[in-house]
Amino acid sequence: MRNLVTGGAGFIGSHLCDRLLERGDEVLCLDNFYTGARTNVAHLRDHPNFELIRHDVIEPISLEVDRIFHLACPASPVHYQADAIQTIKTSVLGTMNMLDLAKRLKARILIASTSEIYGDPLEHPQTEAYWGNVNPIGIRSCYDESKRMAETLMFDYHRQHGVDIRVMRIFNTYGPRMNEHDGRVVSNFICQALRGKPLTVYGEGQQTRSFCYVDDNVDGMMRLMDGEHIGPINIGNPNEFTILELAQKVLEMVNPELPIINLPLPSDDPRQRQPDITKARTLLGWEPKVFLEEGLARTIADFRARLLGK
Ligand code: NAD
Ligand code: UDP
Repeated sequence: MRNLVTGGAGFIGSHLCDRLLERGDEVLCLDNFYTGARTNVAHLRDHPNFELIRHDVIEPISLEVDRIFHLACPASPVHYQADAIQTIKTSVLGTMNMLDLAKRLKARILIASTSEIYGDPLEHPQTEAYWGNVNPIGIRSCYDESKRMAETLMFDYHRQHGVDIRVMRIFNTYGPRMNEHDGRVVSNFICQALRGKPLTVYGEGQQTRSFCYVDDNVDGMMRLMDGEHIGPINIGNPNEFTILELAQKVLEMVNPELPIINLPLPSDDPRQRQPDITKARTLLGWEPKVFLEEGLARTIADFRARLLGK
């Protein structure tokens, strides 16, 4: 099987490349290195089944592949808000280009969509049937609305052109190779703690998230791609924590002496988020296996090696 992984040099994409190669597939990794890095796939450079292409998905491209894992898009609020229009182009034009490619090749295409399409949810936990509560003109809208449009495109190419689609709604995912400058809560807290700095909790830290370890995420993604269900399917860990609880956990694991400081809550920050994974459980036989403490320990070890060289 010859796979195109767009955004393959990113955090999740690089783990997906590893797993596809491990099972004997070929991987064409496509990335413009906007938030990803060559170092994430440096260990694969000499693998006979691996190829790296520098390309921006906003531009069309012609390739020969059997399957497309379409992950290219900045994912953290800091990065997707830094150039909101680029984010919209990547999500909308990039997805159209990949769908046109899938249509021409008769290739199956999976998109990495997001729990952000539920916005600041009024239903809890979130099932795939929930349509969401999204501000169309706020600072998160460039990401939320363009991912919603990307899902619309997936389903319209499916209905209109018979493209074989898979739609995955990813909830907060963490693990080794997260970008240190992403501003995400897990990477921020770990880097701050390792550097002996106070942990920055936005607001009172009572907002919740459910954190999924990257290996579990990639397992879910591969099952969705290999299976018969087009989705959308939530892939995330239903264990929900407040941000304050996460800060306390990281402090316990790295340095309990450090203080927590409170900074203003960004606008439109969702107050709660927890996936209902009934569909993933029943249709894909998938559920997360890695507990937060274990996943955090592996992520802390990775950041310790990268930041402190030990
Ligand atoms: P990431 O930023 O590490 O990876 C995204 C990759 O896409 C990067 O390598 C980046 O350089 C590349 N990219 C961005 N714009 C591009 C463009 N125009 N052309 C080509 N490449 C481009 O983020 P990630 O966490 O690995 O996220 C991967 C996908 O999963 C994204 O689509 C994201 O929206 C989705 N997702 C992630 C999470 C999460 O918690 N990590 C949650 C929900 C959805
Ligand atoms: N957050 C925080 N401190 C930080 C970074 C983030 O308290 O240093 C909060 C943020 O306001 C949000 C939650 O942690 O409520 C998750 O943020 P992240 O950017 O990781 O993901 P998202 O908001 O996209 O779920």
